[in-house]
Amino acid sequence: MGDAWYREKVETLYTPEQIQARIRELGAQITRDYRNRPLVLLCVLKGSFMFAADLARAIDLPLRVEFLGVQSYGDDTTSSGVVQITLDLARPVDAEDVLIVEDIVDTGLTLDYLMHQIQARNAATVKICALLHKPARTKKQVSIDYLGFTIDDVFVVGYGLDWAQKYRNVPEIGVVTSPTGG
Ligand code: 5GP
Repeated sequence: MGDAWYREKVETLYTPEQIQARIRELGAQITRDYRNRPLVLLCVLKGSFMFAADLARAIDLPLRVEFLGVQSYGDDTTSSGVVQITLDLARPVDAEDVLIVEDIVDTGLTLDYLMHQIQARNAATVKICALLHKPARTKKQVSIDYLGFTIDDVFVVGYGLDWAQKYRNVPEIGVVTSPTGG
């Protein structure tokens, strides 16, 4: 997408082609690991909607897709770790294999909270698939079973990820290099 769409200065980090190639690999690995077992793909809204849609198409298993809405409090670019569920699961997941699909693991606080939430609902297994990971900012160690890319401590937008709710529809992942606060 052209620069005209950005008010902040953004540099491309991963092109749509690079993202899709990595998702195909993740999908193949997940397909192999679960060996025909039914899987609940748990898309964490809002940021993961695009990743989950592409990942679902790369997985060749009997799949159910569920959505969980979360909002983590903090300022525009830093999570406080206080997580609120804004949309709960439509169906129970007890005794099922659940794969949590996250856009990005930053401090790890959100995923740590989600892991406990889903385990408390008696899922048979809970694993994590994250598109991006920023290890430099880890506050809570969470083990990511399937990871797209490890990135530096930069604020990224696009491919579902927002800047104050903007840029989610940008097909690439970009780094905000000189925020104007807009
Ligand atoms: P954590 O709880 O791991 O610190 O952060 C989780 C959430 O913060 C992510 O799901 C995402 O919504 C948001 N977040 C963290 N880093 C970034 C980033 O670089 N860009 C955007 N757009 N959101 C981020």
